[in-house]
Amino acid sequence: MDQPAPTAPVTVTFAGSGDAFGSGGRYQACIHVRPAGEPPFLLDCGTTSLTALKAAGLDPGEIGTVFVSHLHGDHFGGLPFLVLDGQFTGRTRPLTVAGPPGTAARLHQAMETLFPGSAGADRRFAVEVTELVPGGRTAVNGVEVASYEVVHPSGAPPLALRLTVGGQVIAYTGDTAWTDALPAAAAGAGLLIAEAYYFSKVIPYHLSFADLAKHRSELACRRVVLTHMSADMLAREDQPGFLTAWDGCVIDLPD
Ligand SMILES: [Zn+2]
Ligand SMILES: [Zn+2]
Repeated sequence: MDQPAPTAPVTVTFAGSGDAFGSGGRYQACIHVRPAGEPPFLLDCGTTSLTALKAAGLDPGEIGTVFVSHLHGDHFGGLPFLVLDGQFTGRTRPLTVAGPPGTAARLHQAMETLFPGSAGADRRFAVEVTELVPGGRTAVNGVEVASYEVVHPSGAPPLALRLTVGGQVIAYTGDTAWTDALPAAAAGAGLLIAEAYYFSKVIPYHLSFADLAKHRSELACRRVVLTHMSADMLAREDQPGFLTAWDGCVIDLPD
């Protein structure tokens, strides 16, 4: 008889739960995931993320991996700051960035644009980039990751991600219009982290709360937590059957 997969608690902290434009005074996407006894990793690292981590009392130097959903500034623009913070604080732990095809080139460009000469600087830790194949699955530093191409033009294939660690499954929509990739990514997850940009207004290439409510029965996950909310959505963030994130909010798996 098969043994059930071992499970271990995982703590999810929203260091940043905001949209690109600071709605509600929130930091951009930066979700910190700590599996018990393992180094934490991030889901997205928007431009404000180094500040967001420090505001939440989370040590940026501990982070082993950053999973990136797509290559917009509010989801990956914090990486140059995270790398340079490590350089100036004597970090030795390697940092892996796992993102869509094109991540290595875009990270190089971002570093050279923001801090010329920084991309090739000597530092005491390696920055390794793993490019995730849309529709594929792989393991990155002990985290199983499955990638699903979604609908959100950003200069490279945008991804929804499904991560399995410690026997817990966390799915993340990233930014996207509704797509059948989302039920696939969310199936069996303990937690789906879902963009809810506007309450019902149709914004191209983004999810509204109305989209999620309409399709909730197709999302075979235990809980859905709303994030990446505009002012319009923040005014109506309390919705029965859904959790809502805020900066500093902690969700434990299993609950
Ligand atoms: Zn985006
Ligand atoms: Zn975004």
